[in-house]
Amino acid sequence: MSSFEFPWQRMAAGANLLSPTGSLGVTIFEEITNLAVKHQAINLGQGFPDTDGPQVFKDIAARGVSGDLNQYAPGAGIPALRQAISDHQKRFYDLDVNPANEVVVTTGATEAIAAAILAFVNPGDEVITFEPFYDSYGAAIGLAGGTHKTVALNAPDFQPDIEALRSAFSERTRLVVLNNPHNPTGTTFGKKLLAEIVALAMAHDCIIISDEVYEHLTFGVSHIPIATLPGAWDRTLTISSTGKTFSFTGWKVGWATGPAELVAAVRSVKQFLSYSSGTAFQPAVAEALAADTGFFSDFANDLGERSEVLAQGLEAAGMTVYRPQGTYFIVADVAPLGFDNALELARQMPEMIGVAGIPLSVFCHEDGAERTRTLMRFAFCKKRELLTEASQRLSKLVARHGA
Ligand code: PMP
Ligand code: GLN
Repeated sequence: MSSFEFPWQRMAAGANLLSPTGSLGVTIFEEITNLAVKHQAINLGQGFPDTDGPQVFKDIAARGVSGDLNQYAPGAGIPALRQAISDHQKRFYDLDVNPANEVVVTTGATEAIAAAILAFVNPGDEVITFEPFYDSYGAAIGLAGGTHKTVALNAPDFQPDIEALRSAFSERTRLVVLNNPHNPTGTTFGKKLLAEIVALAMAHDCIIISDEVYEHLTFGVSHIPIATLPGAWDRTLTISSTGKTFSFTGWKVGWATGPAELVAAVRSVKQFLSYSSGTAFQPAVAEALAADTGFFSDFANDLGERSEVLAQGLEAAGMTVYRPQGTYFIVADVAPLGFDNALELARQMPEMIGVAGIPLSVFCHEDGAERTRTLMRFAFCKKRELLTEASQRLSKLVARHGA
């Protein structure tokens, strides 16, 4: 256990916002976005699209606001949305989810993650994540007083070493938190690895939390929800949200699905974090989830093409590029340009060349930060012209360094 005086400090430290000497930062996303705004840089840092999702869904939300959808929604979510989430899990993954008690709607995936971790982690329990890890996992584990154990994902393919994964489990392991497709590396996890995780979770009797917010954003590979594997459903909470799939990151409507007793636990905690959220958005999200299958595949294909535009730009700028299989993000190594610290470079880049990116080290503990020291994450959920312009600006990094 840490030596911090208050839970909030453990939470901030869990997401690398609080140094041992006590200085407090904001999230790296906020820090870099602020720098991008200040220097009018192209923001390939924080993961949000520069084009909103379809107008038809916005219109539904707008009608809700100008009509009568302005009071609390039911705590678990409006019935139409819970049904739509259930239908979506059936249509895409052949999963049977009871909308009455196996779904809870949350304030974004962030709340579902926090509620799930707070629901199940006692002080001193161990929670395993891969590393780099999305910042909110470390924050929620810290708040719960858990011990955060990590398993490294290393370039070039960002797949874990199975022996390292096995040895991360112990009799104290309570949860394993998975993010597939994976932010920030853009990797995806295949059936063999997922089956190994299920087997380990069964052997150590722990719960799996699977954050699948990028479930529809894969390029040339199919997403496999871990809950579809034999033996997994009973111990898995699957989390997703509206933000990434439909390009509405500001709506903050998310959900968790799983067996009734796990969902009831999440709902119990969620009730006292937000109670309910986004009444007017919920019918719009229900409609979006029912969109034609072509909507989902067209968006993924288009996004995959844009990832390639940026990949080529980063390569032309002299970086080593690790092409993603999914998500909004691409990882590139700035070492070939002569930079040995991506965190320092990320703080300078908005002013230096007018482009912002996120260093991978901020998604890591100390050892992982060292391993990822020269890696930078760039978001490609932007218009092609912007990605091309960003690539041109990035090519100046060579000139600057060589100057
Ligand atoms: N998990 C991951 C891996 C993410 O990248 C994000 C950012 N969208 C979230 C969770 C949070 O999702 P939301 O905005 O729906 O809270
Ligand atoms: N998920 C977004 C990203 O990884 C950030 C969301 C946030 O700012 N918390 O860029």
